[in-house]
Amino acid sequence: MNDASELPEGARAILPVRGLMFDLDGTLLLSDRSLGAYDLLPGAAATLLALKHRRVPFAVLTNGSAYAPAEQAARLRSAGLPVDDEQMFTPSSVAADHMVRHGIRRVLILGSRGVGQALRDAGVETTQTGDARASEVDAVYVGWHPDCRMTDIEAACQAIWAGAKLYVASDVPFFATKQGRTIGYSFAIVGAIRRMTRSPMILTGKPSLRALRFIAGKLRVPMRYLGVVGDDPMVETIMALRGRARAFAVTTGTTNAQQWQSLPAARQPHRILTDLGELLEHLEPTGS
Ligand SMILES: [Mg+2]
Repeated sequence: MNDASELPEGARAILPVRGLMFDLDGTLLLSDRSLGAYDLLPGAAATLLALKHRRVPFAVLTNGSAYAPAEQAARLRSAGLPVDDEQMFTPSSVAADHMVRHGIRRVLILGSRGVGQALRDAGVETTQTGDARASEVDAVYVGWHPDCRMTDIEAACQAIWAGAKLYVASDVPFFATKQGRTIGYSFAIVGAIRRMTRSPMILTGKPSLRALRFIAGKLRVPMRYLGVVGDDPMVETIMALRGRARAFAVTTGTTNAQQWQSLPAARQPHRILTDLGELLEHLEPTGS
């Protein structure tokens, strides 16, 4: 029997999906460069509401780490998206989980206030550049840090040279905002740190498989029945394909329909959506 994903592109076959993971920027909404006002994208609120009514497990995983997950969820609700605190995840959620399981107790944060909150909530001690013993840490965690200074880079390097592991929220250069493509700060910061230290890094955001496994575990959906919805072929799509999840692409963010279609076959999403509501066609009937 053919797997649905092996049918020719354009086939309208149903993909068996039991749960969904949504990207945020460019998929459900567009923010401005300062991450302030949100414009919801067409179909976003209605689709999440329909999933909620049908009791389909879903989660939002952003690569943005500026806000703690609960704070981010509250911001989404006030913009009109029905996302509960427990359905919102950031790379800091994944980092906290990984750190706790690997005995990381004290972390130097390169990021704005919200970056380390999920770590503190999980019982990990956080410290900042300039604090006493800032270099005596088990790990350095780099997230959203628009005010990063060279002294932060230096403190991170010193900690790594003293044995700290390097965790990174996002290693993606750009994300979609109302103003077009916008720089992902942690990409630039970690580039500087790794140029100095040549340290390997533990990526906690997308497209890491550890992020996909984390979400599949939270939703209790096997990865091959998980639909991954995103706007970036190098972020959500590549992650979904690596994990044998179902890749759904939107054209409202960094990538338009023509750009999706011109990708090599091995990097094509399973479906390119013209409306988020099309996801509902792919849901397995409950109880199966
Ligand atoms: Mg995106």
